[in-house]
This record gives sequence, structure tokens and C-alpha cells, in this order.
Amino acid sequence: FDASRWATELASHWATQGGDASYALLTRAFVLANATTSRIKIVDTLVNLLRILIQGDPSSVLPAVWLATNSISPPYDEIELGLGGSSISKALKKIYGLDNAGLKTLYNKHGDAGDVAFEAKKRQSFTLVKPKPLKIKGVYQSLTKIATSKGTGSQETKQRIVEKLLQDARGAEESRYIVRTLVQNLRIGAVKTTMLIALARAVLYSRPEGASFEVRPPHELARLKKDELTELYTNAEEIVKASYARHPDYNDLVPCLLEIGPTDELLIRCGLSMHIPLRPMLGSITRDLSDMLTKLQGRAFSCEYKYDGQRAQVHCDEQGKVSIFSRHLETMTEKYPDLVSLVPEIRGEGVSSFILEGEVVAVDRENGDLQPFQTLTNRAKKNVEIGEIKVNVCLFAFDLMYLNGEALLERPFRERRELLRSLFVEIPRHFTWVKSIDAQSSDSEAVLEFFKSATDVKCEGIMVKVLDNEIKNDTQLTKDEIEQPPEAASAKSSAKTKEKGTRRKALLSTYEPDKRLESWLKVKKDYSTSSETLDLIPVAGWHGQGRKAKWWSPILLAVRNPETGSLEAVTKCMSGFTDKFYQSNKDRYAEGSTNVISRPSYVEYHGSPDVWFEPQEVWEMAFADITLSPTYPAAIGLVSEERGLSLRFPRFLKVREDKSIDEATTSDYLALLWRKQMERAVDGKEANQDP
Ligand code: ATP
Repeated sequence: FDASRWATELASHWATQGGDASYALLTRAFVLANATTSRIKIVDTLVNLLRILIQGDPSSVLPAVWLATNSISPPYDEIELGLGGSSISKALKKIYGLDNAGLKTLYNKHGDAGDVAFEAKKRQSFTLVKPKPLKIKGVYQSLTKIATSKGTGSQETKQRIVEKLLQDARGAEESRYIVRTLVQNLRIGAVKTTMLIALARAVLYSRPEGASFEVRPPHELARLKKDELTELYTNAEEIVKASYARHPDYNDLVPCLLEIGPTDELLIRCGLSMHIPLRPMLGSITRDLSDMLTKLQGRAFSCEYKYDGQRAQVHCDEQGKVSIFSRHLETMTEKYPDLVSLVPEIRGEGVSSFILEGEVVAVDRENGDLQPFQTLTNRAKKNVEIGEIKVNVCLFAFDLMYLNGEALLERPFRERRELLRSLFVEIPRHFTWVKSIDAQSSDSEAVLEFFKSATDVKCEGIMVKVLDNEIKNDTQLTKDEIEQPPEAASAKSSAKTKEKGTRRKALLSTYEPDKRLESWLKVKKDYSTSSETLDLIPVAGWHGQGRKAKWWSPILLAVRNPETGSLEAVTKCMSGFTDKFYQSNKDRYAEGSTNVISRPSYVEYHGSPDVWFEPQEVWEMAFADITLSPTYPAAIGLVSEERGLSLRFPRFLKVREDKSIDEATTSDYLALLWRKQMERAVDGKEANQDP
């Protein structure tokens, strides 16, 4: 792989096209990214692509970023392509002259719609009129037209655009990626972080004309020592990632970055904003209470009930306009009109604008009892009328990130919590604070009692949050304090500067958007012998035996590998399902329906299930422990070269309605849990050997 040769190749390619950058250029990058599983090579490919665009056609950078991240707008914009599989099939038949049987044969052979388009285009007979080359901007505009066309005749309009795209695709690879884009399964491993890193690095090498920042000349950059280059990269990446975590919209980030470069000002111009959801801070896993107490030795912390509901970020501006966002940044304002109507009452004196966060939980209004998560899922997502609400909810607030025009992210948690609890007004059973106690490591009995009281009221366990900032220098850190959080441990980067930053942050009680640090810990109650659960994707099934003959049982589940885009089978499950669930599963994946597909090339599994499911759901699963497996390919290469990982005693818990398959457990995370389990086994052995 020679990135610089590729850059030259692309540059000359683009030069011959002139004007707007061609879609062929983007396709070339996709092909290269798809050909490797190396994150470094994928980043290099994207950096080269972006550099060429920045210099030659800066206006194509933003659409290229959207296309490479397989989206057209941020999640809270609620714009969706909404194309069914049948629409793609119809277009493939019409444009490439296939009949039903021909199309079916290709699908059976390849599984992936993009691969089918590739083959069909290759076989297409010679076309007299050579279409004008597709442009990056043009393809992006076509997608937004598909997504925004509404009302009568919109289906026909969408179909026409899809057909035109396929007709104009010049080579078989362009067809493949147009179709993969349309079915929203690009499979080039360009996840969010990869793109943010590529953007940060690209502007260290190139700037558009008229930009207000400078880049160092290439010969100077080439002379930098490895450490210096790493530091340069890391600083730029941290700024770009921090900006995106506070303001996750490429439409704002990309133009601003191209204008001012990766400078601190980016965080001011493109930082925390009203009615734009920030990416939430995340909790790190712990084995149990004693693991948590060891991790937080010497620190004051707050233990809070971990409610089983839906996370909500509530924004309210000075004019009283309210927006509510989910954990995954989708807009939920229409789902919770009852919460919107509470805002004027909870906003205490002196509060003009704010962003607060809490867990929405279904409650019984009569006695205030918490209801299970399943009850909450019965609420419609849209057009909920206040008078017709059947599922009552209470918002249990736990953090305040913005107040009266000022971001509070850098303030210690104790201070943010104090502001929240003193300035807002509690309305019992509608809006209140998460139940909590303050403690330290020596209070193990009180913590255990609190944990028990949480599980008694059907909470999932507790969240434990460091209350104060305490900055120590590296020599004062205990072993546990310097332990890296999972996020840093899984990242392959060994940048020293990053490690230091992570260590320091692990001790702070600031609100860190999009980070999973040791200052927020979750302790879950045991579902089985493992306290962790996994979010897996059902991908296939077998005909059941005996009583279960009319259903699919067992069901094959997979984790996702974000590097390759594949789904890796991890276990078969036949436990935890009710008969009602089995039936609804059979209805959803009925033979002959579009949810049942031929063997997909992107699912890794050597066995032969009776039926393959179109991946579309995420199921939360309990299990006893993780085992090395010769049969299942999940996380292969991460813990062993020959063997993958599987689960012992997998048990279905619930459908994660709030998660899309892109948010299912990754193979990296599974490997991390396996390593933790191994450490635990070693610890246990050592403990047992003590006299
Ligand atoms: P994650 O959000 O950590 O990626 P997840 O979606 O599976 O994983 P959990 O591991 O169950 O969620 O734990 C974190 C979630 O717990 C939060 O996103 C939030 O919705 C919920 N939660 C409930 N009570 C609290 C609380 N007191 N503080 C913070 N989060 C809470």
C-alpha cells in the first residue's frame, strides 16, 4: 500500500475531470478502504482523498464526508432515505436489463445488493450514449432529494432518482457503491472516529485558498521526528473530536475547519449549542461493587440509581423553546409533549436557558412505582397528544451541562449537581432528581445497602460518579487511577500525549462528551453470573424442534466488526424467549418476506442455518461467561489467531428498541470483556491461594 502513489494517481485523475470532483474519485477511495482492514490505511486513504478535494474542489469536501460516513444529515434532523429493497431491485432490473430470475440468481450468489449491482453492471451490454460522469456533489444532492421528497408522487420521484444514479454510474465499482450507499451499508470501515481523525490530519497538510490558517510546507512536515508528528496529529485530532462531540454536525464542522483549521477557536465557533445535542458522556463497566470501590479509592463519589428507561437531553432557550434528544441524538420532542409542558414549571427563578440530562422512566402515577423499560417502549414515537397519554413518565434528572448562556462542562460534578438541584423545581412523580447518596471507598456497607435498595425497586444497578476534580501529578497516581479506560485501551494509538491526557481526565469530574472514562462507573445487578450484557444482532435461525417446530429456534446472533463492516456470529440462543416473542419473531422473519434473505456475504459464520435474517434489530443478551471457540468467528484475531469468542448460557433479555444495528456490541468490546474476565480469573486464583 503506497499512500503517496495513490495520492498522485488521484490527483491526476481529478485533474483530467476538472471542475467538480467526480464520484469516480470517491469510489476509488472506497475501493481502497474496502480492500484493507487496517485502520491506519483507511485513515490514510481518507486523508489523501480529503487533501485532494481541499486543494482542488473544497466545495466537494462536505458532501464527500457525508457520503463516506454513509449519512446525509445529523441524526436529530430526522431526514431518512427511506428506500425499500424492492425499489433498488426494480431499478437494477430496469437499468441493467435483468429479469426476476436473473436478479434472484445474483442475489443468491452475492447476498449484498452492492455486489449484485457490480455484477449486473459488468454484464450490461454496451451502451451507446456514454453518460456524463457522476459528481460527488451531484450524488449527495440526489440523496437529499430522495430523502426530502414527500407526499403524492414522491415514490415515483424517488424511483426516478435511483434509476438515474444507476444509469449514470460509469463503472461497475461506481454502481456497487451507489447501491451500497442507497441501502445504507457502505462497508468501508469509515466510522465516525476514522473520519474525524482524517479531517484533522488533512488540514495539517492542505488548506483551501483564502483560509485563515497556515499549513507547514511539506518538506518541513517530512522532517518532523515521529514523536513530533504524533503530537501534531494528536492535538489536531483532539480538537476536531471535541468539537464534534459538542456539536455533532458536519454541516457546521467542515466549513469551519476549512476556514480556521484545527485551532482552539473551533471549539468556540463550533461547540456546545442550544438545540444541537451534545454526544453524551458514557459509563465504564465494573465487575461488581468491590471493583468499583477499589477503582475510586480516596475519592468522594455519588452513587445514583441506574434507572431502566430512556436517556433524555433537554434543551430550553431563553424564549422557552424546548427540544428533547435521545442517547443517540435523535429528536424526541414530539414523543414527550408532557415533558415539554413541564419545562416552565421546573425552570426556577433566574434560569433562562439550560441543557440538562436525565432518564425518562415509565411510572405509575397513583403510587409513583417505577415501571419496566418494556412499558416505556409502548409509547408512540410521534404525534403523542397530551390528553391521550397512556404511559406516564417521570424525568429523573442527573446532570446540568449548560446554564444561562454558559457551558458547565468544565465545572466539577458536585457544582453542576448543586446548580441543578437548587435552581430547578421538583415536581414529584413528574420531574425529580435521581435518588443518590454521597460516599467514599470506606463506606462499603452504606453503598451495598444503597445498591440493594436500587435493585429492590427494579433499577438496573447504580451509576457511580466522581464528585470533585483532583489533579495529581503522575507520580501520585495509584495503579488503578492510571488504568486506561476501555476506549483508550482498545484504540491502537500509543501516542504518549494522548495517554497522559486520558490519565488526567480519568481523575476529573468534568462532563466529557462522548467519552467513557473511569470517573463515571456503572455497577449492574447480576443478570446471570456475568453482570455485563451484550447488545447482539439476530442474523439467522433454524427450524425449531418439538413444541417449537413452528418457530425459529435457536437463533444465531452476531457482534459487529466496525473495521470490516462484517457481522461476526457469536452464539446461538434458545433461552429467555416467551412463546409470544417466538411467534412475533416468526412473523417478522417469515419465509418469503423481504426480511428473509439469501446467505449474506457480510455475515461471518461457517454453519448452515435454515434461514438468514436481514439484520435490523438489536437484542440485549445475558450470559454466564465468554469462551474461546473454534466455531464462532467473533473477535477472531483479537484474542487468538485461530479461535473466536462465544458465550456460555446466552439468554435473551429484551429488544433494544433504542439501538440501531450500528450501535450493537463490537468485536473489540467483546474481546475487552473477555480480557477482563481472564484478569478476574487470575485475581480469583491468587485470592484463593492466600493462606
Ligand atoms: P452505554 O450508554 O454506556 O453505551 P448502554 O446504552 O447499554 O451503554 P448502560 O450500559 O445500560 O447503557 O448504561 C448507561 C445508561 O444508563 C445511560 O446512557 C442512561 O440512559 C442510563 N442511566 C440510568 N440512570 C442513570 C444515572 N443516574 N446516571 C447516568 N445514566 C443513567
